[in-house]
Amino acid sequence: MNCFVHSIAPAVGICKQCGRGLCCDCAAEVEQSLACKGRCEAAVASLNELNDRAKTAYHKAAGSYTKIATVIGLTGLLFTVVGIMMRKADFITLLVFTPLGLVFLLCSVFFFHSAKQYRSRD
Ligand SMILES: [Zn+2]
Ligand SMILES: [Zn+2]
Repeated sequence: MNCFVHSIAPAVGICKQCGRGLCCDCAAEVEQSLACKGRCEAAVASLNELNDRAKTAYHKAAGSYTKIATVIGLTGLLFTVVGIMMRKADFITLLVFTPLGLVFLLCSVFFFHSAKQYRSRD
């Protein structure tokens, strides 16, 4: 590929914003990306910023998913244990609390899994 502006000059890269081929003279480096000099620099800078923000958002989401998973998991554990402990005194408690606790534990596993997925996108 050759430069979009200088058709005889070989392109050294592609503008992240508009996808045009850029020669050494036309390419501007914006952080780790290339942009058309004087044309797409601002656009590429905001693209990069958006990207960075998305990464932080994934990280934050992973953090809150882990917190939710922990709270739900502990609640589930409590329900399950209470259900089992009360099984002799009150059979209804066992029937209600233990399945409920297991459902909570299942939700907790789901949230932990989501947190892991978000974290892997960092
Ligand atoms: Zn050029
Ligand atoms: Zn461009």
